[in-house]
Amino acid sequence: MKVLQRLDDSLALAEEERLLLDAVRALCRDHLRPHAAEYDRSAEFPWDNVHAINKLGLNGMFIPDEYGGAMTSYVSYLAAVREMAKACASSAMVWSNTFHAVKPVIDFASHEQKTRLLPKIAAGGLVSLCITEPTAGSDATGMKTRFTPDGDDIIINGSKIFITCGNHAEFYGLFGKWSEIDNDRAAISFVLVEKGAEGLTVLGKEDKMGQRAAPIVGLSFNNVRVPRENLFCEPGDGLKILFSALNKSRPSIAAHALGIARAAFEDAVAYINQRQQSGRNIIEFQGIQFMLADMVTDLALCESWLWRVGAMIDAGEEDIGIEASMLKMRASDLAMRITTDAVQLYGGYGYCKDYPMERYMRDAKITQIYEGTNQIHRQLIGRSFIEK
Ligand SMILES: Cc1cc2nc3c(=O)[nH]c(=O)nc-3n(C[C@H](O)[C@H](O)[C@H](O)COP(=O)(O)OP(=O)(O)OC[C@H]3O[C@@H](n4cnc5c(N)ncnc54)[C@H](O)[C@@H]3O)c2cc1C
Repeated sequence: MKVLQRLDDSLALAEEERLLLDAVRALCRDHLRPHAAEYDRSAEFPWDNVHAINKLGLNGMFIPDEYGGAMTSYVSYLAAVREMAKACASSAMVWSNTFHAVKPVIDFASHEQKTRLLPKIAAGGLVSLCITEPTAGSDATGMKTRFTPDGDDIIINGSKIFITCGNHAEFYGLFGKWSEIDNDRAAISFVLVEKGAEGLTVLGKEDKMGQRAAPIVGLSFNNVRVPRENLFCEPGDGLKILFSALNKSRPSIAAHALGIARAAFEDAVAYINQRQQSGRNIIEFQGIQFMLADMVTDLALCESWLWRVGAMIDAGEEDIGIEASMLKMRASDLAMRITTDAVQLYGGYGYCKDYPMERYMRDAKITQIYEGTNQIHRQLIGRSFIEK
């Protein structure tokens, strides 16, 4: 395990970030990991874990200091996501989902909007990002949610599906189309809706394969009225905001996937070091060693790319869409492969719920689907080489 430990130790974090990461590790050891199996079974919302996360003030990691946060580097945020995902993929998703939803606010909102919203999030509020609709998934430009200006207000009609934490969010970052712009892509706009707005209905919660305690729900908007101040930037700026948001959330999904993969790898190594067959520890068989070699090599390479893309974002680079796609795609495919191999290394016990292996495998699957399916990422990466 030395090689992975060395890679972790090589992260260039400030002293306060290192201390914070130690606190996150303690939180994972004491709260998240011990309850992960139970939250997976019950699919209850992990409020205990959310309270423990908020007690440490971890939302502050991604909120600027002037709005009540204590912002750290993006790399240190990724490291915290990965630690949490190792311990409890659902809780890690609940926490990182707020980052995904609030990042466009940090990057694009006016000072007034930030002053109104961000201190509540720094204090622990949850936010959801609403893009997907029943007939618009991979192609978000097909969304039908409509924003109609009406005097000083905007009237919202439409519906969203699969919205993470949509039943607990204080705020919704909502994408829809501006009624006065007659072009599918150019009409996309971004507004903020507050919990409890009249005409907003939270629909049923899905019963999911994995990350079962991180809920996804549908939302219906029926003549929801919000003040025009809730519009971000200008009508039609939504696509720019969406692409920028995805560039920051895709590395976060990769960190999450790599956390699940790392947990599966470390648990499997511990198991095959003590499980015996034919009078030898399983790890002594060459066929098993070959499996480990492939797993750890790909893990180390992918983790290295995670920190590289994180450092690019910390350096303020904006044009990182392809790097982020490569990272999200490879990390999630790897998480699926490593968790599947880890089940194999546990033999029959890997298939049983007394051990975490089958949970890791179920938790990993969705990482290949959300934040752009891996088919879409392959398409984005491949077509970036078309010479114009
Ligand atoms: C657990 C979970 C959490 C989620 N959280 C959120 C959230 O918080 N907010 C939000 O807005 N959304 C969320 N989503 C939605 C998620 O982002 C979408 O499910 C995803 O983008 C895929 O869209 P879709 O399900 O409509 O699949 P579809 O787009 O219908 O795709 C079905 C299949 O067709 C393939 N396909 C589609 N188009 C192409 C193409 N051009 N080329 C090749 N293959 C293609 C896809 O890769 C996939 O294999 C969540 C989903 C889940 C399951």
